[in-house]
Amino acid sequence: MTDLNTTVYYDDDADRSYIDDKTVAVLGYGSQGHAHSQNLADSGVDVIVGLREDSSSRAAAEADGLRVETPADAAAEADIVSVLVPDTVQPAVFEEIKDGLDAGDTLQFAHGFNIHYNQIRPPEDVDVTMVAPKSPGHLVRRNYEAGQGTPGLVAVYQDETGEARDEAFAYAHAIGCTRAGVIETTFREETETDLFGEQAVLCGGMTALVREGFETLVDAGYSPEMAYFECLNELKLIVDLMYEGGLSNMWDSVSDTAEYGGLTRGDRIIDEHAREQMEEVLEEVQDGTFAREWIAENQAGRPSYTQLKHAEETHEVEEVGAPLRDLFSWADEGDEAEAAEAAADD
Ligand code: NAD
Ligand code: MG
Repeated sequence: MTDLNTTVYYDDDADRSYIDDKTVAVLGYGSQGHAHSQNLADSGVDVIVGLREDSSSRAAAEADGLRVETPADAAAEADIVSVLVPDTVQPAVFEEIKDGLDAGDTLQFAHGFNIHYNQIRPPEDVDVTMVAPKSPGHLVRRNYEAGQGTPGLVAVYQDETGEARDEAFAYAHAIGCTRAGVIETTFREETETDLFGEQAVLCGGMTALVREGFETLVDAGYSPEMAYFECLNELKLIVDLMYEGGLSNMWDSVSDTAEYGGLTRGDRIIDEHAREQMEEVLEEVQDGTFAREWIAENQAGRPSYTQLKHAEETHEVEEVGAPLRDLFSWADEGDEAEAAEAAADD
């Protein structure tokens, strides 16, 4: 086994004294917000959850034993303000809280979009950091409670106090990330790789592959149910194998016929044209084209987003999928936490 090119930081590399006597305001109580605030509180850090007066998340945060204030009051009282509302909402929330940022306070994020694309311009006398667990919030919480951790990223954008990096590692320690391992990155690298990954591979590329494969079979006269199983349902088994042991583990686990067929045909599907498109998508992320488009789309009330979402929801693969998934409902116990979280959202 070769060594990693990058340093991985663990519990012993973090100095908790940089956070233990500080007050952290966690803005938002969604996926990341509920996990960060509860993990911080269980680690003995003073936490205030910042939520609007009319937020439906208030009851949940209070039931979890946390103090809740408005975002402005929480930020004013805190030394570290962890901005965990949706990325599209963050610039507006920043306007509400910015007067409460004192010199030497920290503005902290779990994703770099708004800082990297200048949608939030922090005052010059505060630290700006990122602590980003590499998994959804319910796992950040569940792993912490189980005495384990969730791998994460730490980055420093602005270091006014000279303690920004130490404080970010202390925060990563307090939410459990250094138990599993933390890698250091930059706002630019985190933002650009995150956007590229979700567009080209994880969300965009994968759904397009599934849809095109499904349609190819159905158009050729095969039953939509069979097409669903082959092109969507079984994807999970393949992804699980790759997640557990990489590409070779997957190839070793499928039949030799599947392996030979896949090795000879895969590159014909994701070919040079697809690769050129990936490079173009990456350029649009790097030069800010995508960011400008998404910000304008939000300002216009999301017309394209709404239309594309509807088209996806009414695609035949979705219509045939719902009743078929009911046949597998016994296998889905792990999804309950996500469903509960979605319901707790504003
Ligand atoms: P979310 O959508 O789950 O929750 C956001 C919360 O913000 C809501 O529950 C609510 O409490 C509050 N909120 C919603 N609308 C609001 C409004 N208009 N005004 C004020 N408050 C509002 O968000 P999330 O997925 O936890 O994302 C938070 C940050 O964490 C983002 O920067 C995101 O990119 C980052 N992140 C998310 C994940 C993930 O897996 N979800 C992983 C890593 C980083
Ligand atoms: Mg303050």
